[in-house]
Amino acid sequence: MTHPSPSRCPCCGYAKVVPAGRPGRVLRYRNTALTLPPDLSLSHCQRCKYEDLSLAALPGELLESLYRSSLRERAQLAIARLHRHLSKNKLELLLNLSHGYLCRLGAGHGVPSAALVSLLTLLAEHPDLLRELEAYWTLPPGDGSKSTHADEAISASRKTPTPNRRYRP
Ligand SMILES: [Zn+2]
Repeated sequence: MTHPSPSRCPCCGYAKVVPAGRPGRVLRYRNTALTLPPDLSLSHCQRCKYEDLSLAALPGELLESLYRSSLRERAQLAIARLHRHLSKNKLELLLNLSHGYLCRLGAGHGVPSAALVSLLTLLAEHPDLLRELEAYWTLPPGDGSKSTHADEAISASRKTPTPNRRYRP
């Protein structure tokens, strides 16, 4: 069995595989979906439209750079939304972040962790959770009324196969 030569399409065997760019190419990277720059040239089959979007075929530094930009942009958006409900200063206190860190992220400086972006996004989407979190941190571990609800939900979900309506994944 012979392998197709590098200039042949691995999908249809057509010989005319040429580098080309286009908009709308999205790929899974780490915990997110990245949109590739439209001017990035990748091998593209002119017959079957095959493109190699595997991570091995793409420049690692570019993917990391896109990923960091995505984290920055997502954090900026979440911080702007959260600012309507709580000042950056109070939010930093609530999450035990360094003073001024959210200002830096809000201005597009620094690279937040995916975990922090996840938390900020969830809080921006459900600002009522800010009050819940404030109450949570004033109580000893395990004493929060909401955690009691969560415990009940967990034990209820263990008893019955019906998923919890509010927290269904
Ligand atoms: Zn092809």
